[in-house]
Parts: sequence; C-alpha cells; structure tokens
Amino acid sequence: MGERYLIALGSNQRHVRHGAPERVLTAALAGLEQAGIRVVRTGPIVRSAPIGPSHRRYANSAAVVETDLRPDALLTALKQIERAFGRTQRGQRWSSRVLDLDIVLRRGGAWSSPGLTVPHIAYRTRDFVLAPALPIAADWRDPLGGGTIRQLHRRLKRAKAITPA
Ligand code: ATP
Ligand code: CA
Ligand code: CA
Repeated sequence: MGERYLIALGSNQRHVRHGAPERVLTAALAGLEQAGIRVVRTGPIVRSAPIGPSHRRYANSAAVVETDLRPDALLTALKQIERAFGRTQRGQRWSSRVLDLDIVLRRGGAWSSPGLTVPHIAYRTRDFVLAPALPIAADWRDPLGGGTIRQLHRRLKRAKAITPA
C-alpha cells in the first residue's frame, strides 16, 4: 500500500508553453502522474495576492497523491518536476516562480529530515493552502495537534474576521 500525501501547488509566472499560472498547475498534475505519483483528488484552483518580494498574483491548488515514495524521495521527485517546468533555484524564498510543489501533510504522520519538515511549517495560517485543500482533505488531522484541515481553515477565517489585514 502506498503512502498518501497532501501536496500544495503554486505558480505565479507564465510558462512558455503551458501559459498562465492556472494552466501551469493543471499541467503539473499531469507531470505528477507522469512521474508515477498517483493523483487521487484535486482541489479547486484559487487566486491569491502574493506574499514576499514578488508582486505577481498566485494561482494555488492542492492535491491528494498516493505513492510508494518515502517523504525525502517524494520531495526529490517534486523538485525534479519544478525544474522540468523551468524553475531555477535562485535561493530566494517566495520569489517569483513557475511552479512550487510543497508537501503539506503525510497521512502516516509527521516527518523531519535535513531539508524536509512535514507538516509544512507554515501551512496552518495560509488560506491559499487550506482553501483548496478543504474540499479534498477536510478531515486530515495535523499530527502535531493542530486539528483537522476543516478546523484550521475555520480558525483562520475567524482570526481574519477579527483582525482584518
Ligand atoms: P515556503 O516553504 O514558505 O512555502 P517556498 O516554498 O518558496 O517557501 P522553497 O524555496 O520552494 O520555499 O523551498 C525551500 C526549501 O524548503 C526546499 O529546498 C526544501 O528542502 C525545504 N522544505 C522543507 N520542508 C518542506 C516541505 N514540507 N515541502 C517542500 N519543501 C520543504
Ligand atoms: Ca511554498
Ligand atoms: Ca517550495
């Protein structure tokens, strides 16, 4: 039996062949399948304002995948797909990029190794991760006690209502 993971997808740059960020995400899902990573469910594509030094808008989505790959091997495969989509590593976090693939959660529990922390360290307060994940992974539970995706999303909405950005 394979492992299940929740993957976050993001793009804020056009791709020479695929086009706009939304199309990049759709193509990336096909890229996952081509790499032997089974896409079990896909969330909606949401648009959101950028964080960090880039000023372009993002398209984000989420996918539940099944694979025999262990977390480190999965991250290596995801980085390969990012590179195949023309992402260059300039070493700047949150910089403008064609494709970003993060491991948000692992069904089997938490994981930590040099260069990889699962659950993703920042997903609990990111609406652009939680919103597309909600329809496909609402009952997935944070192994570190953060509650389910549904609860995290509700909590974030409530917090935003009290302190508007
Ligand atoms: P953020 O992590 O805040 O979403 P980012 O995705 O822009 O920012 P990157 O430059 O893509 O950051 O990745 C930086 C490094 O984070 C990667 O090289 C990877 O080794 C590491 N990393 C740690 N945990 C994870 C994870 N759960 N998923 C993906 N990458 C991770
Ligand atoms: Ca990211
Ligand atoms: Ca990343």
